[in-house]
Amino acid sequence: MSLLYKNLKNIYREKPALEFLSPLEETYLFIRDFLKLALERNNEYVNPSDYSIKYGQDMLNSLNLFLNISQSAYPILSRYYYISCDECDSPTIVSSMNKLYECTHCKYPLDITSDTKETFSNIHYIFKINPEIRKELNYDLKGQPSSSSNFVEEGDQTPYSEAPNLSMLIESQDENYTGVVEEKASIKENLLRFAEGI
Ligand SMILES: [Zn+2]
Repeated sequence: MSLLYKNLKNIYREKPALEFLSPLEETYLFIRDFLKLALERNNEYVNPSDYSIKYGQDMLNSLNLFLNISQSAYPILSRYYYISCDECDSPTIVSSMNKLYECTHCKYPLDITSDTKETFSNIHYIFKINPEIRKELNYDLKGQPSSSSNFVEEGDQTPYSEAPNLSMLIESQDENYTGVVEEKASIKENLLRFAEGI
């Protein structure tokens, strides 16, 4: 059994609500295909928007799936925050909200504590493939003769600035989206910490 399948199965065991939102067997095939494509393209990050478009899934549901498979003892992905700087237009990509206070290029302050809808709309979710999973998929790819189905088309990727954003997550009221619910709780805690100046 592949590590990807094993981890996914363990995650579904921990979070049974996922089966109704994104059935395991189907999701395994989609995720496997999606991550392999990202590796073929040498993409450093994967965008839930692309997953949502490619496999006809609801955007919030795709974000929820990605969050769930990164918030686990059996990680498949790791979550990152992406924001584009107003001053120099460069991307800042960090793994924790605590690191999201200045542009990593020009040091321009990123005022994420002003909880306006616009600010939250500028913070996007992108993900990195877990190193062990990456190794396994790369190994699979090497053993595969290149076929037309692996043909890499240009121009069908959405920019990170169109990845699901924090505003979308905060507005969600659906308790079934356990990944979103957990992430929301952690965001709230972080924003409070910012507000208190800690
Ligand atoms: Zn900047």
